[in-house]
Amino acid sequence: MVRRHSATRNRLALPAKYDQFMADAPTGNPPVTTWEYSPAPETTPVVIPDQTQLYVGGKFIEPHSKKRFATVNPATEAILSNIADGDAADVDAAVSAARRALKPWGKLPASERAKYLYRIARRIQERARELAILESMDGGKPIKESRDVDIPLAAQHFFHHAGWCDKLRYAMPGTREPRPVGVCGQIIPWNFPLLMAAWKLAPALACGNTVVLKPAETTSLTAMRLAEILQECDLPPGVVNIVTGAGATGKALVDHAGIDKIAFTGSTEVGKQIAQACAKRGTRLTLELGGKSANIIFADAAIDQAIEGIVQGIWFNQGHVCCAGSRLFVEESILPEVTRKLEMRMKTLRVGDPLDKNTDIGAINSKQQLAIIEGYIAEGSREGCTVCQPNHQTLPTKGYWCRPTFMTGVQPAHVVAREEVFGPVLAVMSFRTPEEAISRANNSPYGLAAGIWTEKGSKMFDVARRLQAGVVWCNTYNQFDATSPFGGFKESGFGREGGMQGLAAYLSE
Ligand code: NDP
Repeated sequence: MVRRHSATRNRLALPAKYDQFMADAPTGNPPVTTWEYSPAPETTPVVIPDQTQLYVGGKFIEPHSKKRFATVNPATEAILSNIADGDAADVDAAVSAARRALKPWGKLPASERAKYLYRIARRIQERARELAILESMDGGKPIKESRDVDIPLAAQHFFHHAGWCDKLRYAMPGTREPRPVGVCGQIIPWNFPLLMAAWKLAPALACGNTVVLKPAETTSLTAMRLAEILQECDLPPGVVNIVTGAGATGKALVDHAGIDKIAFTGSTEVGKQIAQACAKRGTRLTLELGGKSANIIFADAAIDQAIEGIVQGIWFNQGHVCCAGSRLFVEESILPEVTRKLEMRMKTLRVGDPLDKNTDIGAINSKQQLAIIEGYIAEGSREGCTVCQPNHQTLPTKGYWCRPTFMTGVQPAHVVAREEVFGPVLAVMSFRTPEEAISRANNSPYGLAAGIWTEKGSKMFDVARRLQAGVVWCNTYNQFDATSPFGGFKESGFGREGGMQGLAAYLSE
């Protein structure tokens, strides 16, 4: 029997000590429970080569320019490796290799293609620990997130799409035999490096396409480990090619006449440039861009669960999440309670060494991104918002760090309410009626995701239906699964990744 608990019951279900603690807390400045944690660093050694190469035609090759750039551990500022800087000649070689591989790969029996995807998934699982450590060192994310979210989900995407290989005609009803689109150029960002590679590669390969992948400049290391895995799995040469480099390398890929489809995840600004370039040539395109997602808390919600949802929504992966719940809308009657509890919960988050298993918030991905985030916090303060940021923890002296932050007194016109910060910064606003919540949530050029917190099922479905967002989470936030399509509306892009819907982008009838 399913039993529904009211919000009050849920709140009362919490340990009595907690409620007493909250009741004792002086308004506006609750005391902090300081838990002492012994360091729990991940100590498995991971060998990182001094320099990397490109992966083209099944081989690791030197970049045409012979140039390399350093990739830095954002938690220590130490150089981890020197990454090959691919140029237009390398992109050309990679596209040619992908073109040569297209016919034989597409003609393989679907069940044979599936075996490669299964193998890749299993090898990711076998090398999961190494990949998780490398991801945290290169990108700054806490090891518990790379270990429990990024790497398992990357494997899941290959497993899931392996299952689709011989069922594609059921994915597109009415199509007799769906065919691959051709050679796909895929450009990915730095916030989920291996996971984004898996999101892009797995459906493309399942549908019989070949790929040239361009990882982000600051986080190429796990993509190159993935290249090793592809080699170990005997994936036919040229089916996947990986060309590392900066924005210019991505542009060379977009501009290459031999590309049949571009899939891009990144900023809206670059997405618009890519859309123009693709429109000129008629190249197929899917865009997964930025967001300013609304997390809406109604007064009837289970408040303590909602607090956890807010934390998960904005402070997961240092807020470097395209669908981060960065605009919090709280029903006016519970605003003081929510901000008080949020402040207390925020103070318990541990900021520091990404390789420590107790760390909640790791390092900001790059010096440039830290400057962008600090600029937004300063702008919020200048515009009159109240900045709430715990300062009881000492941050490491080296590396790029930003404490979890929320701002109150935010008006819809304020910059922090309108623009994507891509950091651990939450804009808190209030509303009085569901209508107001919906219109304020939709008052954004973006439309990637949203969250709703309420105990009332009818309200949940009504609000979810009227929100302009590609994904709406109810009484949860930031849950991802390979079976579930992900993508946006408006300036958050178009096309879906994952699920059955995600296959459409890689199939032509
Ligand atoms: P970009 O959009 O610049 O980068 C995303 C990817 O595109 C990277 O691989 C990048 O290479 C590449 N790229 C850059 N310029 C071009 C171009 N002209 N043609 C083709 N590819 C290109 O994001 P940033 O890393 O610069 O981050 C800036 C802001 O973008 C962030 O502050 C955040 O707001 C937003 N962002 C959103 C993401 C999302 O998931 N929606 C992800 C990342 C960023 P390179 O890394 O070498 O620059």
